[in-house]
Amino acid sequence: MKNSSTLQLDKWQSFYNKEIKIIKRTKKELKRIKETKEELKRIKKALKKELKAVWYNNKMYTISGGYYKNGNAGLLHRNIYRDYIGEIPKGYIIHHINCNKLDNNLSNLQCMTNSQHMKLHRHIEILVRWYLALQLFK
Ligand SMILES: [Zn+2]
Repeated sequence: MKNSSTLQLDKWQSFYNKEIKIIKRTKKELKRIKETKEELKRIKKALKKELKAVWYNNKMYTISGGYYKNGNAGLLHRNIYRDYIGEIPKGYIIHHINCNKLDNNLSNLQCMTNSQHMKLHRHIEILVRWYLALQLFK
């Protein structure tokens, strides 16, 4: 026969066990919610990336470093140039004439040597600075 204090203790023990179970279940639920949220975030990120992507020859190109790029196929503007105009000689680069690196229309692509390209961009930079400076006097 248990005395009253033992009974009280048993009651508390069972109450405590129930509470622990609820807390554990809640923790599990919270973890699940957190994982679901993270999964949704991942999906959203992937979708966002895919929305900005373009397809060329059954390959998806996403924006990377300002250019459309595919992990295996490489840079889109180079592939387009190669497919429609021809092989790009070694040491040559494909310049975007209107400076929009995402505009890969054939008419916007120009093949030139690396040093010609650097010179051209220096020139463009100076022109942009002049343009911005002139805006100050308007
Ligand atoms: Zn360029």
